[in-house]
Amino acid sequence: MSHLVVIGAGIVGLNCALSAQRRGWRVTLIDRDFEGDRASHGNAGGLAVSECVPLSLAGLGLRPLRWLVDPLGPLAIRPAHAPRLLPWYRALRKISQKGNFARIGDALAALNQHALDPFMAMLAELGLSGDLHRNGALSVYETDGAFLRDQPSWQFRRERGVRWREVGREELHALEPGLAPVFARAIMIEDWAHIDDPRRIVDRLRHYLAGHGARLVTGEATALVMAEDGGAGARLADGTVVRGDRVLVAAGAWAARLARTVGDVALLESERGYNTTLPHSAHRLSREVLFAEAMFVATPLSVGLRIGGAAEFAGLQAPANYRRSDALLALSRRYITSLDERDNHKWMGHRPATPDSLPVIGRSPHSPRVLYAFGHGHLGLTQSAITGELIGDLLDDRPTAIDLSPYGIDRFRRGGAHQAARPVPAPANHGRTRDAAIRQQEPAARTGSTP
Ligand SMILES: Cc1cc2nc3c(=O)[nH]c(=O)nc-3n(C[C@H](O)[C@H](O)[C@H](O)COP(=O)(O)OP(=O)(O)OC[C@H]3O[C@@H](n4cnc5c(N)ncnc54)[C@H](O)[C@@H]3O)c2cc1C
Repeated sequence: MSHLVVIGAGIVGLNCALSAQRRGWRVTLIDRDFEGDRASHGNAGGLAVSECVPLSLAGLGLRPLRWLVDPLGPLAIRPAHAPRLLPWYRALRKISQKGNFARIGDALAALNQHALDPFMAMLAELGLSGDLHRNGALSVYETDGAFLRDQPSWQFRRERGVRWREVGREELHALEPGLAPVFARAIMIEDWAHIDDPRRIVDRLRHYLAGHGARLVTGEATALVMAEDGGAGARLADGTVVRGDRVLVAAGAWAARLARTVGDVALLESERGYNTTLPHSAHRLSREVLFAEAMFVATPLSVGLRIGGAAEFAGLQAPANYRRSDALLALSRRYITSLDERDNHKWMGHRPATPDSLPVIGRSPHSPRVLYAFGHGHLGLTQSAITGELIGDLLDDRPTAIDLSPYGIDRFRRGGAHQAARPVPAPANHGRTRDAAIRQQEPAARTGSTP
């Protein structure tokens, strides 16, 4: 029986392990702390299958500068981290160049279109089908101006198969009576879904895997190991080597340093997000709501109403600044009526973010024994099960359901993410093309108002 070693027991690593186990692989999971906190525990719980608009800062005018000097704005960079962020930031700036943007949107849409079915199959296998709520999400706007400014990005999504429709004030009130009557316009995103509790799925999945024979090894992986006899695995901080036939790096925001130990380079940052969960307010909403101008989301989980978002670049070590959770909660008081804030719980998590918004899924160019599944950014829960399927196909040496070339780790070597470091001439009719219009529109949707 072939043996897969998986580093990282977040939602991505666990789904890959499940897929491998289903295909007859023996699985060993390594994590530094199986019970400990991680992005996969505290996220917003959205199956955000409509989100194919890449993260970008283009077209925001001076707003990012204002945010950067506001430590509680939707986007923040801690000054001490700024020099380390530079290569990632340079690559991010190239994403909105003509051609890149649409290509990345296509690659995100390809994953998302395949995301829901395997996710539902995973829930069914765990006996958690009832945890999924397929009643869409609402993106709400206070002003006509903001709504109109966002139209090109909605069009961008529609061109990639996303179903959405406009909702009037009366219907909005009927759908979500807990929202304050301050919204001029809304969009219903039909295929969006949400789950009851991200942590419950992670815990159930881990127990399920262990119950079906997976070995759980607690330890910090410090390097990937390639054995001369054809095996592969990981070296742990205490010197132990965990060996299998293949090794998969699914270590979330920590993955790049492991890839580097076999010579692979990935631009990966922790895009820290914050939220507050209000256990006594879960029923104020019945579906996830995206507050477009204020750039945060609220999801009615079984564990409470979870309110959060934001993007903070401060690296993996800096302590959390929970005033950001407070700031988002304060904003939400204007928009959601009668919030009961007793026993609330604040949280921060590390989104594993690449500059081109695409995950890294595939084999190492250095060795087919090393596989990668990390960098899912805002969409790790959404894309976890399809990532597992794709990794399973690679393990079986079968053709994958979608072309994996956009997600390869070698894209960072080829001149940054999606030719990010290669100069691309500015479009001749800058500011008038549809692409330019999209660039004007999309960032607000991907700096904070998505999960
Ligand atoms: C505020 C917020 C809201 C979000 N909302 C959503 C949402 O609604 N929908 C959605 O799809 N996504 C959402 N996300 C994104 C999603 O949570 C992440 O993309 C996803 O959880 C990443 O999963 P992962 O398994 O790759 O990483 P993680 O969950 O971070 O797991 C990585 C694991 O690897 C382990 N590890 C790391 N390095 C090592 C090492 N060297 N040795 C041993 N173990 C190691 C860690 O201990 C950890 O358990 C949100 C994120 C945040 C922060």
